Parts: sequence; C-alpha cells; structure tokens
Amino acid sequence: MNTSQLTESKKSHHKLNGFTLDDIGDDHMYTGLETPMKANAFKLSNEEKKEKIAILFEEIMDTMGLDLTDDSLKGTPKRVAKMYIDEIFSGLDPKNKPKVALFDNKYQYNQMLVEKDITFYSNCEHHFVPIIGKAHVAYISSGKVIGLSKLNRIVQYFAKRPQVQERLTNQIANELKTILDTEDVAVIIDAKHLCVSSRGIKDDTSATVTSYYGGKFNNASKISELHNYINN
Ligand SMILES: [Zn+2]
Repeated sequence: MNTSQLTESKKSHHKLNGFTLDDIGDDHMYTGLETPMKANAFKLSNEEKKEKIAILFEEIMDTMGLDLTDDSLKGTPKRVAKMYIDEIFSGLDPKNKPKVALFDNKYQYNQMLVEKDITFYSNCEHHFVPIIGKAHVAYISSGKVIGLSKLNRIVQYFAKRPQVQERLTNQIANELKTILDTEDVAVIIDAKHLCVSSRGIKDDTSATVTSYYGGKFNNASKISELHNYINN
C-alpha cells in the first residue's frame, strides 16, 4: 500500500455520519452511549499497557525534539503511562466500576434527593486536554436508596475516561437508572473544556451545560424545583 492509499483508507475509516475528520474539524461530536472500545481492549494487562504507553510517549517527546536524558524529563514517559492507566483514564477498566450497595428506603422519603456540586476532572476525547466541571445528580427513590458517596463515585468513574460531555451525562444517568431500578433520575453537568479555553477559539468565559431528565423529572415543575436546589 503506498502512502496516498494509506491516507485514503484512514480517511474513510474515520468517516462519521458521512463527514470526514477534516469536515468536522474542531467541532465535537459523539457517536453513542458506550465509550467506543475495541473487542480486545483488555487483552493486555494494566502493567503491559503502562510499559507500552511509556515507550510510545517517549517517542512523542523525542519526536518533538525534547532531550530525554535531561533529569527533569527522563521520568515523564513512565509517569504519564502510570497516570493514564491508574488515574485519569482508570474508568475505562470495568474492574474499577464502583460497587454499589442499596438500602431500603426505610424513611419512606419519596421526594427528590439531590447531590449537587460534585467536582470532577475528565479529559476531552478529541484533544486529550482536561474538562473540569460540576455534576449535579438527583433521583426519586423507587423503594431503594444509595449511599451519598456512591453518587459521587459513579460520577468520578465515568469522568475518568476520554469523554465528550454529552456521553458523560448520559452514562451517569444510565448507570443510576440501572442501579436504582427507576427512570426517575436527573443529571446536570456544567463544565469548562480546556480545548476551548486554552487553545483553538480561546474562549475563557464560556461553559457547557448538558442535562438528562428521566421519568418524573421530565416535567417543568420538577425541573424548576431541581434548579432551585442547585442554585441555592
Ligand atoms: Zn476537545
């Protein structure tokens, strides 16, 4: 295969909804609820992944002309590899999904429960730079309740993936619906994308808000009640 054939096949492989990557440019879009993963995503162990990423990241730094014998730089490839697998992208590994215990709703509390201002750090899957934001999650019990810290842990698990904000919102909502066995969940995410503020259009003031309102939350008075709690 010559170079131009390779370029062509890469282009067609990356066609999204009929658009090429060049057409899409810096505009963010996503293709589904599930994070796109390869069928053999877990063939390598986490240790093997770290070794491989360290080699590849060293290659990137070397290509940019950085001197990897410098004391300050030589540990970076291994540090980045460890950070990717153990920390900022640890949510790709289903083994890290929080185990959630449910309790009977013995107080018979049947109004909405809101956990607001959950700070999270994620990374944009189009540029691999941070998304920093707050998530607000709410549910109305169908008979079971969940520990409050678990709501936070569910947000953190899905944030620790290469993400787009729309998918992050829906993945959190979907997980809550499954665990709590109810449609009555809401998720609002308010976040800053460093790929918008620190590069590209360099807009430092804008924020992106996404929301999911399911079941009983899909109602103007419930939504305004929820917004009142969040804004107080
Ligand atoms: Zn981006």
